[in-house]
Amino acid sequence: MVETQIVGRGLHDPRLLAAFGIVPRHLFVLEQDRHLAYADGPIPIGFEQTISQPYIVALMTNLLQLKGTERVLEVGTGSGYQAAILAYMAKEVHTIEFVPELAARAERLLSDYSNVFCHLSDGSLGWQEAAPYDGIIVTAAAPKTPQDLLDQLKDGGRLVIPVGARGYQVLEVWTRHGDSFDCDEVIEVAFVPLRGKHGWDASRH
Ligand code: SAM
Repeated sequence: MVETQIVGRGLHDPRLLAAFGIVPRHLFVLEQDRHLAYADGPIPIGFEQTISQPYIVALMTNLLQLKGTERVLEVGTGSGYQAAILAYMAKEVHTIEFVPELAARAERLLSDYSNVFCHLSDGSLGWQEAAPYDGIIVTAAAPKTPQDLLDQLKDGGRLVIPVGARGYQVLEVWTRHGDSFDCDEVIEVAFVPLRGKHGWDASRH
């Protein structure tokens, strides 16, 4: 997985590759799907959600440009795999999940990671209690970048988020400079919808 899917697609940060080498991805998928755990794609984890493709996890992590000293927020804990990778890349990781059953399962899997803090809440609002963050990563697709997340970035901090229509989005990287923000568009992606206040609401979209 690391050689062909991550190094083979141009990501070479030794800390990132080490994290992927250490975290046992097969523990974060459902037992019946263990044989697919290292395949080159997303895998269902129940409740209409997925564990993201390894390359996308690596790319989004890489875009945060972490050195190991940062406090990071992940919106969309899902299986807990991305949070486990972040645990090796940052000092402190807060991760928020909307679906209670997924939050409970991930919290059990992440109990050995002493720098990961799991929360059950609407992550489209961020997690004000531990803000500001050096990095925020959103692993579900938003119709628009939530201002609440931008506001929880430190000066110089980065937000990585898929934004666009249902089923088709662009991965955006926002960087805070004082009270203003730069946005770069990276690649086309397809994430499950973000729910909650700043997510997709059937009556509005
Ligand atoms: N990062 C996850 C992993 O490593 O397995 C993959 C996440 S999955 C693609 C997206 C997750 O975002 C789902 O678990 C979904 O329930 C969650 N989600 C959607 N809207 C949310 C919200 N408003 N707050 C928190 N989590 C949300």
